[in-house]
Amino acid sequence: MLITCPYCGPRDVSEYTYQGDGNRARPDAGSTDNQAWNSYVYDRLNIAGEHHEIWQHSGGCRAHLAVSRNTLTHKVSAVAFARDAGHRKSDRHRKSGGAA
Ligand SMILES: [Zn+2]
Repeated sequence: MLITCPYCGPRDVSEYTYQGDGNRARPDAGSTDNQAWNSYVYDRLNIAGEHHEIWQHSGGCRAHLAVSRNTLTHKVSAVAFARDAGHRKSDRHRKSGGAA
């Protein structure tokens, strides 16, 4: 699998480190909503298809990247610097959270 780093160009996935699901919305730092924090820390989706992920080019420029990847085919459809992509707003994760 190749990921095209905006700085370095196409590189093998072995140069990258998976940093996690790019769909998770971090609760506000001052939030005391334990349900929201619990969901943020522990709940994960296992998506079969297009997935937004955060990867670090740890074997290269060390930039954090927002990658859109199909988990079935491993085809990468989009790559951007994570700082430019911002937080992806998705309530799919919260809806899949545990019991209230
Ligand atoms: Zn790079």
